[in-house]
Amino acid sequence: MKEDILKVLISEQEIAQKVAQLGAQISKDYAGKKLLVLGVLKGSFVFMADLMRQITIPCQIDFMAVSSYSSGVKTSGVVKIIKDIDIDPLDFDILIVEDILDSGLTLSYLKDLLVQRNASSIHIATLLDKPARRVADIKPDYTCFEVPDEFVVGYGLDYAEKYRNLPYVGVLKPEVYEK
Ligand code: 5GP
Repeated sequence: MKEDILKVLISEQEIAQKVAQLGAQISKDYAGKKLLVLGVLKGSFVFMADLMRQITIPCQIDFMAVSSYSSGVKTSGVVKIIKDIDIDPLDFDILIVEDILDSGLTLSYLKDLLVQRNASSIHIATLLDKPARRVADIKPDYTCFEVPDEFVVGYGLDYAEKYRNLPYVGVLKPEVYEK
């Protein structure tokens, strides 16, 4: 697995430090609100698990599963809901937790959907932001790291369902997906 990684972009320690800071910030910003932390599966599950344990105020947790990439590395622009939210978003202050904001098509679709379902507020926390490839008019409210226009894996992010278990974020060797 490690032999497929060109370089480690963000170490385990750097991630832990930023996630702790982000959890503290969210706890402050959402104090007294009806917080629903909504993870977007599958990519966000590692980030979500670490982040929720750094949130010190009462909150509820839910997940949606969507797919916008098949096994390739380019977005199709088509967002498919595989698992919908269980909790009724009505009157919740929703914090969407995502692994990476790339073209932004997935999150702009999800945001619109939650607006239609009468959430009180909707904000976005993303581990990684890749602004170079943005297509949709959307920005994260909270982000841990900005990344260059390279295909990254690890800490929940996959290529063809592999590499999610790497504890760091690394750049995949292009020959792996160009094979
Ligand atoms: P977007 O809709 O913003 O283009 O991205 C949607 C999804 O594409 C992300 O949640 C993520 O699963 C996937 N994605 C985008 N860029 C990368 C990347 O560099 N690496 C990996 N592994 N997935 C990515």
